[in-house]
Amino acid sequence: MSVWSDPEQALIDGAQALATILKTVPYKKWNHTKDSSRYFFKLAAQKGLTGIEVPVASGGSGASFKCKALVAEILAGADFGFAMSLVNTHNVANNIARWDDSKTSDTTISSLVPELLSGQKIACTALTEPHAGSDFSSITTLAQPHSQGWRIDGEKSWIINASVADLILTYVQTQPEAGAAGIAAFLIDANRPGFIRNEQFGSEAASSLGTSSFKLEGYIARPEELIHPAGFAFKRALHSINGARIYVAAMCCGMVAECLRIATAYGASRQAFGSSLQEHQGWRWRIADAAIDLEAAQQMVRAASQALDDGQPVVDLASKAKVFATRMAEKHTAAMLHAMGANGLRDEYPFVRHMTAAQIASFTDGSTEMLLERICKSQQQSH
Ligand SMILES: Cc1cc2nc3c(=O)[nH]c(=O)nc-3n(C[C@H](O)[C@H](O)[C@H](O)COP(=O)(O)OP(=O)(O)OC[C@H]3O[C@@H](n4cnc5c(N)ncnc54)[C@H](O)[C@@H]3O)c2cc1C
Repeated sequence: MSVWSDPEQALIDGAQALATILKTVPYKKWNHTKDSSRYFFKLAAQKGLTGIEVPVASGGSGASFKCKALVAEILAGADFGFAMSLVNTHNVANNIARWDDSKTSDTTISSLVPELLSGQKIACTALTEPHAGSDFSSITTLAQPHSQGWRIDGEKSWIINASVADLILTYVQTQPEAGAAGIAAFLIDANRPGFIRNEQFGSEAASSLGTSSFKLEGYIARPEELIHPAGFAFKRALHSINGARIYVAAMCCGMVAECLRIATAYGASRQAFGSSLQEHQGWRWRIADAAIDLEAAQQMVRAASQALDDGQPVVDLASKAKVFATRMAEKHTAAMLHAMGANGLRDEYPFVRHMTAAQIASFTDGSTEMLLERICKSQQQSH
C-alpha cells in the first residue's frame, strides 16, 4: 500500500512531470527565455505545487511535510534553483494561510493566498543583510512606528526570488540594541513606493534562484502587515528554518541521485582500454561510494521529515540531515563529474550547476558551521 494519499501522489507525479520539462531548459537561457520564473511558477501552480502544505480550506492540498520534501528532492534533481524558488513562495503562502492571529480576517492579506497559489504572485523571505548573514540577530533594517503604521528603512541581500518577487516576508529590527527580542516580520509589497529592487546577482549556474537584494527607504507598512511581532518573530524564524534544513537536505539527495544516474548510464556506453568504463573496477567504486552516501542521506531526510510530521523534536535531526546531505552533495556532485571525464563539464549535463548548488545549500538556512555548533550544543545538553 502506498504511503501517500491520493492528493499527495498527484503532487509527486506533478513534480516528476515538471522536472522532466525543467531538464530541457538550458540554464544559461533561464533569464533570456521570456519570464522563465513566472512561466514555470504558473506550470507548478497548475500541478498544485505552490500549495502543497497550504490547508485545503485555503485552497492548498494540506499535504504532509514529507511530501513537500520529496517534491523538493525531485525538482532539485532537475534544477535546484527553481526548486528553492518555488518552495520559498510556497512557504510564504503557507505562512499567511496559517497566520493564527486575530488579523487573519484582514481580507487584503488573506486574498494574497489565492494569488500565490495561482502563480500570479511570487514571494520570498528576507533575513540576510549585507552585513549580517549567520548572525541573524544583528540585522539593522529598522521599523519605527508611524502615523499610518510603520516606517521601514534598510537593505536586504542574497534573497532568493528578490529579482522577481511581488511579496517579501521581511525580518526587521524594531528596537535597536534589543537583538533577537526586537525582531519582527512584515509583509512587504514590492510594488509600493519606498521599495527599491536591485539587479539580480549571484552565480549564473544558479540563475533560476532569482537571487537579488533590495532597499527599503521610507517604506510605509500598514499595521496589519506586521505578520509576526517582536518577541515572536525570531522564534518563528528558527522554527520554520528546521523544515527548511530538511528540504534543503532532500534537494541535495535529488541532485546527487541525478548525477549518479547520468554517470552510471555514461559508464555503460563510454569505452576506454577496450571495454566500457563500468567494467573497470576502480571506476565502479566511485559509483558505489556515491550510492552508499546517498542512501544514508535519504534515510536521514526521511527520519527528520517523519519526526516533523509527527510533531516530534526535530532541531537536532534536521541539523544533522543538512550537514550530512550538503557535504555528501559537495563530494559526490564533483565525483560524478569526474567519473564522466571532460564531458561532465558540458552544459547539457547538470554537474557544474549541481556542484554550485551544493555550495549554496551549505550556506542557506544555517551554514554548516552554524549547524555543527547547534549539533554540539544538543550533544552537550544530552549528557
Ligand atoms: C544563493 C544564496 C541564496 C540565499 N537566499 C537567502 C534568502 O532567500 N533569504 C535570506 O534571508 N538569506 C539568504 N541567503 C543568505 C544565507 O542565509 C547566508 O549566506 C548565510 O546565513 C551565511 O551568511 P553569510 O553569507 O553572510 O556568511 P557569514 O555570516 O559572513 O560567514 C562567512 C563564513 O564564516 C562562517 N562563520 C560565521 N560565523 C561563524 C562562527 N561563529 N563560527 C564558525 N564559522 C562561522 C560561516 O559559516 C561562513 O562559512 C542566501 C545565500 C545564498 C548564497
